[in-house]
Amino acid sequence: MSTLNERKVRVRFAPSPTGPLHIGGVRTALYNYLFARQHGGSLIFRIEDTDSTRFVPGAEEYILESFRWLGIEFDEGVSFGGDHGPYRQSERRDIYKKYVRQLLDAGRAYIAFDTPDELNAKREAVPNFQYDAHTRMQMRNSLTLGADETRRLIDEGQQYVVRFLVEPGEEIHVDDLIRGDVKVMSDILDDKVLYKSADQLPTYHLANIVDDHLMEVTHVIRGEEWLPSAPLHVLLYRAFGWADTMPRFAHLPLLLKPDGKGKLSKRDGDRLGFPVFPLEWHGQDGTVCSGYRESGYLPEAVINFLALLGWNPGTDEELLSMDQLIEKFDLAKCSKSGAKFDYVKGQWFNREYIQRAPDALLAPTLDAILRSEGIAQPIERVEAVVGMMKMKKINFIKELWPLCDFFFIAPTYSMDDKFVRKNWKEGAAAQMRRLADILAGLDTFDVEHQRQAVDAWAAADGIKPWNAWRVCLVGTGKGPDMYELAAFLGKDETLRRMQAALDALPQV
Ligand code: GLU
Repeated sequence: MSTLNERKVRVRFAPSPTGPLHIGGVRTALYNYLFARQHGGSLIFRIEDTDSTRFVPGAEEYILESFRWLGIEFDEGVSFGGDHGPYRQSERRDIYKKYVRQLLDAGRAYIAFDTPDELNAKREAVPNFQYDAHTRMQMRNSLTLGADETRRLIDEGQQYVVRFLVEPGEEIHVDDLIRGDVKVMSDILDDKVLYKSADQLPTYHLANIVDDHLMEVTHVIRGEEWLPSAPLHVLLYRAFGWADTMPRFAHLPLLLKPDGKGKLSKRDGDRLGFPVFPLEWHGQDGTVCSGYRESGYLPEAVINFLALLGWNPGTDEELLSMDQLIEKFDLAKCSKSGAKFDYVKGQWFNREYIQRAPDALLAPTLDAILRSEGIAQPIERVEAVVGMMKMKKINFIKELWPLCDFFFIAPTYSMDDKFVRKNWKEGAAAQMRRLADILAGLDTFDVEHQRQAVDAWAAADGIKPWNAWRVCLVGTGKGPDMYELAAFLGKDETLRRMQAALDALPQV
């Protein structure tokens, strides 16, 4: 990509630990990861926890566990180490103070004492009130009170905030790798709060800019919801004198509801029955949010699905491994418009990945279901069933149980079953007695030996005994190839089921 600057690529994923990570955040992290890997760069994991009122215990661990499950790896950051730390913003207070002071000394920021009540009163009195060039001289701040009074109030212990001084009449350009040149007039911006004396912490904007600078971030790849903050961020970089090393921006398209009407929300997931979080989340208030992992998705399927929400390789290719995604990903090919969250497509990806996954990887999921049904089997046998059955059109391994119960539980037989009625016809009982004799005579009961013996008999007699045989072993019309099934059951169980069917069904 020719637009990359010379510096080594360094990107970051910087969540605020306010709860479980939304699937849109996972996509943001994924795009950062793909971009970093493609350019031989680094991906940083930074925790933006300067808003202590929104802190949720357990969120940080949840986020880390999500990425471990998904195979998104970080190079630096909280829990990974690195030489640009600490990576948790609440541990960087002293660093930010220095930069707040720098802006104050340069006259790019000022101190404001307006209390929440005063601000509310102003908002009520003035329609569309905004703290900016037009109003700041009517407020209680260091610009109106003067240096001595400001000092006095601070010494007296009054709480204050530091606001950024935005000059009106300036055209700000946000150079976005996806959206191009986004122009905004500075007049629409307010004098954002950068720091609060009450908790001695900066707000998101200041901490975000200072950290991106100090951590030598080259590209800020984040959700579209942060685009409105970008002009302010550009001004902050300039105010600090960091314009030369300002990161390139890329604001990713929103994830939309499946019908495209509005932003994807947790409620859509609840309503339509799909997760919007990577892992199950247990809130402190007892709420449980379903997760992709617990719902039976393979991480590779989730990655592939998410990668194509807002980006595509420009071809019809859909099934792409992480390595292929790293090779093909291109920020310039991301769409500007929102991406519909087609969760049915997500299920399709899971089906495709299940079919391609090693049986040994899938078996534990089926094994857990079997155990909950009171069936304990050696894992190799569970693996064998997965191997025979995963090609059936299932989206999730849990759908296998009703399709494969007969492997483990001997069937009951009834002429009420449509398949039985259709296939237990004249001659069936006699054929099955003969087939049982042939099978009983086999020394080796594998697929090949059965095939040779049974195919020869069927061809010689001009009959097709397979469906009646399926009635005997399955009790209805489901299941894999008969030889595979019989080989799995073994000779004794196969003959036992055939006898049981002959005993239970009419002697047609
Ligand atoms: N802390 C912000 C978040 O929660 C980070 C936004 C950004 O990447 O600048 O997503």
